[in-house]
Amino acid sequence: MNSGKTLAELIPGLAHKPRLLIVDDQPLVIRTLHEILKEEFDVFMATSGRQALDMCSENPPDIMLLDIMMPDMDGYEVCTALKADQTLENFPVIFVTAQQDVVDEVRAFDVGAVDFITKPINPALVSVRVRTHVVVKLQRDILHSIAMQDGLTGVANRRRFDEQAQLHWRQGRRDKKPLSLILIDIDHFKQYNDHYGHLAGDKALRDVAHALRSALQRPHDSLSRYGGEEFACLLPDTDNGGATLLAQRLLDSVRALNIPHAMSSAGEHLTISAGVATLLPDSTSSIENLLNMADEQLYRAKHDGRNCARSAGLSD
Ligand code: GH3
Ligand code: MG
Ligand code: MG
Repeated sequence: MNSGKTLAELIPGLAHKPRLLIVDDQPLVIRTLHEILKEEFDVFMATSGRQALDMCSENPPDIMLLDIMMPDMDGYEVCTALKADQTLENFPVIFVTAQQDVVDEVRAFDVGAVDFITKPINPALVSVRVRTHVVVKLQRDILHSIAMQDGLTGVANRRRFDEQAQLHWRQGRRDKKPLSLILIDIDHFKQYNDHYGHLAGDKALRDVAHALRSALQRPHDSLSRYGGEEFACLLPDTDNGGATLLAQRLLDSVRALNIPHAMSSAGEHLTISAGVATLLPDSTSSIENLLNMADEQLYRAKHDGRNCARSAGLSD
């Protein structure tokens, strides 16, 4: 697998050096590992378990080398804490241990480590092991991002939406910040397909997705293809007023495409309808409530003649 190739050759499209975090209370060990791995990795260092956890929540690495015997928090505890956190359990942890340490290997794998390296450090072995595990991790990341993308439009797919919705819900609950959702449905799209053909329908879907995505401004706002001709926008830390304004901008951006739709009752061009909902995430409600609210508002928008947005929920 490693066969003398660089990481860039093994992972086509690799834009940056993978991030490696070395955790060891002995600076000398860190220096040694750094020397071996600095060519191919962007190396970060922590000298305690606590510091390592802080660095990971700030910006998770692609792989971690973790000393077992450390004062305060040992490697087992660090690894257990990482694997308990859904946002941090994704990168491989390799334990580094002195041969004279009495290491419980089963316990190490139980807490989620993928491998062991023993001190004194053998550079060739370290290099080959770290590379092997990071290649698997980066390949998994690529497959994951493909699996989360909608093939036709290139925006996030339903699976990704579900994942992000849960994430933003939890985050909003922690930070006591509102979460808004806009559900979007293309008006009379069945007639569009019937009249212009399925290929033209596909092209319209791509154009609409592009217009919607371009209308989003904040980095945390996201667009997903929610169903056939339905899209969803998740807007963290956004109140109902802000979300309703954005919904109007989305409507305008699709209308501005000027895609002819001779069979629409809502005008002569392709339009969308939008349902907006906002909740302050707490223990009495769930993301399903937010989805149902947005769906009701979308239904109202359709009922009120289409090419419009309706909204419900918190204002500031
Ligand atoms: P409404 O205004 O009430 O939303 O009417 P509608 O015709 O848009 O709604 P309906 O749910 O009856 O039809 C949705 C249509 O969307 C059905 C199908 O022809 C079309 N559609 C769904 N997915 C795709 C796709 O991937 N490609 C194409 N070309 N059309 C699709
Ligand atoms: Mg629909
Ligand atoms: Mg529709």
